[in-house]
Order: sequence, then structure tokens, then C-alpha cells
Amino acid sequence: MLFNNCRLPQNQMLGKMNEGFIDSLRILDGGRVSIAALSIGMAQGAYDAALKYSKQRKQFNRPISEFQAIQNKLVDMAVQIDASRLLTYRAATMLDAGKRVTRESAMAKLFASEAAVSIANEAVQIHGGYGFIKDYPVEKFYRDVKLCTIGEGTSEIQRLVIARQLLKD
Ligand SMILES: Cc1cc2nc3c(=O)[nH]c(=O)nc-3n(C[C@H](O)[C@H](O)[C@H](O)COP(=O)(O)OP(=O)(O)OC[C@H]3O[C@@H](n4cnc5c(N)ncnc54)[C@H](O)[C@@H]3O)c2cc1C
Repeated sequence: MLFNNCRLPQNQMLGKMNEGFIDSLRILDGGRVSIAALSIGMAQGAYDAALKYSKQRKQFNRPISEFQAIQNKLVDMAVQIDASRLLTYRAATMLDAGKRVTRESAMAKLFASEAAVSIANEAVQIHGGYGFIKDYPVEKFYRDVKLCTIGEGTSEIQRLVIARQLLKD
């Protein structure tokens, strides 16, 4: 939206004069914590579905959850979810305390969204052919979760934001 020569009264101003861009970046800091939380929700949903399915689905006369290859996937998914949660809680706690969270929110968003995409991918894999059809929830997690590495700034932009913060120190 462009507002050319738009005049408005002092009492209608949001924030300070000429600081709109900085203010909007601060809003993104908070939004990124929300996208990290959204990623965790979808990752947890995909993991829960995959865990349940792996206990039900039998191949070679036993549940596929007894195969070490499937267990390894479930373990990696669970560890990624926990790590995403901890990064997100840190950023959210700091945000609630009124601190700047540029670095922490970008880290939480980057890690949680990339992890969620990987988890949804593995959840489909654990479902085999059934991962493709709408009778099971994982195909929807797989489609929806990709938003999280794009919205509120792509993963590439999160890395750029984090790099700036690291180089500043
Ligand atoms: C489902 C969905 C919902 C959305 N909802 C909203 C919303 O509610 N409000 C809103 O404002 N926006 C929303 N967006 C837009 C979203 O924020 C943008 O799509 C996102 O920021 C990327 O911008 P872009 O699409 O213009 O991609 P581009 O900026 O064209 O990027 C294309 C590619 O180039 C890379 N790239 C771009 N610049 C650089 C750089 N400097 N260094 C390295 N790589 C770079 C990007 O990472 C990406 O891989 C939504 C997007 C989606 C998919």
C-alpha cells in the first residue's frame, strides 16, 4: 500500500516519526515466535499420527514400530520437536519480559519450521502409500507445514537476520 502526501493528525500516529520500519521489524520478531509455535503444533500432530500408525501397521508379521529404521525416524522427530519447543519457549519468555528477541525469535522460527517440514516428510514416509491419501492426516500436515519456512520471512532471511546479530556481537 502506498500513501503519497497522506496527512494525519499527531494523535493518530502509531509510534514515533520516521521509525515505522523499525517498529514493523519489531512486530516481525513477535510474529516469528508464533510461526515457531505453529510449526511445533504441526510437527507434533504429524509425529503423533506416525507413532500411532507405526504401532498399528504390520509387515513381516510385526508392527513396523519394531523395525529399528522406523524407530530411528521416530527418535529424530521427537528430539527435533523438543529442541524446537525449548528454542520457542526461550524466545517467548524473553518477549513476555519485554526484551528484544531478534536473534532468539529468528533462531526458533528457523529451527522449528525446518524441523517441522522434515518431520511431516518422515511422517508421510512412515505411512508408506497411505501417506499420500486423505484418509490419514499426514498428507495435510505435509502440504500445510511448508508455509512455516516461507511466511514471516523465509529461512534464507532468518539466516540473514541471525548472521547480522552474530556479527554484531
Ligand atoms: C500461505 C502464505 C501465507 C502468507 N500470509 C501472509 C500474511 O498474512 N501477511 C503478509 O504480509 N505476508 C504473508 N505471506 C507472504 C510471505 O511473508 C512471503 O511470501 C515471504 O516473506 C517471501 O516473500 P516472497 O514471496 O516475495 O518471496 P521472495 O522475496 O521473492 O523470495 C523468493 C526466494 O528468494 C529468496 N531470497 C529473497 N531475498 C533474499 C536475500 N536477500 N538473500 C537470500 N535469499 C533471498 C527467498 O528466501 C526465497 O527462497 C504469506 C505467504 C504464504 C505462502
